[in-house]
Amino acid sequence: MRFQVWCLTDKGLKRQGNQDSFLVDEKVGVFVVADGVGGHMGGEVASAIAVETVREVAGHVKAHQFSPKEVLLQAYTEASHRIFDRATQEPRLNGMGTTMVMAYLREGKLFIANVGDSRAYLYRKPYVWQVTEDHSLINEQIRLGLLTEEQAKKTIGKNVITRSVGFERDVFPDIMEREVSVGDTFLLCSDGLTGMITDERMSQIFNEQPIDKTTPLFIENALANGGDDNVTVLVLSF
Ligand code: CA
Repeated sequence: MRFQVWCLTDKGLKRQGNQDSFLVDEKVGVFVVADGVGGHMGGEVASAIAVETVREVAGHVKAHQFSPKEVLLQAYTEASHRIFDRATQEPRLNGMGTTMVMAYLREGKLFIANVGDSRAYLYRKPYVWQVTEDHSLINEQIRLGLLTEEQAKKTIGKNVITRSVGFERDVFPDIMEREVSVGDTFLLCSDGLTGMITDERMSQIFNEQPIDKTTPLFIENALANGGDDNVTVLVLSF
């Protein structure tokens, strides 16, 4: 199935560096956004290792001998091992990890995997749906009924993630399979976008703008609303 893809990242207005990394490999059909966590360059190193590992695993000549889900699982497992082992060897990188949301196109289907609070959304005119579930303290509390979504919006300390790639040696990603229809658009992004704009604003941008104009507009909106964090936006349109 034919698709187009756009991706942009920006360090935002408050951060010194950019700990987000992304991967766009149209030939293999793999798309990734990773948001690194950890001081002293740890976050940048972790997210860079993660996307490089996905590129290798999914792009491997033998990848097609395995099911799409096995490839995703292998990518997360290998990335987590590499990040954890590197952090163990280099004290300044201790405790580093990364979120990672990933889309893998095979046999006309899109396989989406996630760890952490970067997100995948599906836009089908005129609505957007969040496809992934955040692994964050806030979301756990919502699920347990300790917080309503309204209360959660007002709570600070929003970006505490409860699962990350590489913080422990093994990691278990959520993996899901989606049928893709012509006209579907998927958005992968770091929390530098979702912390700055609402889902309503997101669907408004998709509804009002030609698809090839939306990626820079998402970044502009995140910056206009404060640009508190690094922001990465990947739009994949069928
Ligand atoms: Ca972030």
